[in-house]
Amino acid sequence: MYDSNNVFAKIIRGEIPCKQVYSDEYALAFYDVNPRAKTHVLVIPRADYTDIYDFTANAPIEFQAGFWRAVRNTVNELGLQGGFRSVANTGATAGQSVFHFHLHIMSDERFKTDF
Ligand code: 5GP
Repeated sequence: MYDSNNVFAKIIRGEIPCKQVYSDEYALAFYDVNPRAKTHVLVIPRADYTDIYDFTANAPIEFQAGFWRAVRNTVNELGLQGGFRSVANTGATAGQSVFHFHLHIMSDERFKTDF
């Protein structure tokens, strides 16, 4: 069950600031407040899905396409076309702490075992 009081919902609503990297109608990308890599950005959909399992099952396919285009635009904005790591922790037992679907985009990792 999606809880609209989560911190990323508040960032989307503008109630909490973020250091933005990319934004469009489908997604918002911003720097992780606790980076575990030289570049560590989160891409989140502008819609209420708890995790990638929920998102891929329930988001309209056009919206999913828009989200993944936004991921690609974020990668280009960061200049990471040459390589990056993406992670979507799903469920508390897998390390998810914010229950609004987000994709971690990381490069030049310092602590690879974190995920
Ligand atoms: P998860 O553990 O759910 O996969 O990742 C959640 C991420 O959100 C963590 O890497 C954490 O550092 C980040 N985070 C939590 N609260 C905030 C916040 O208020 N602002 C930003 N920019 N990142 C946050």
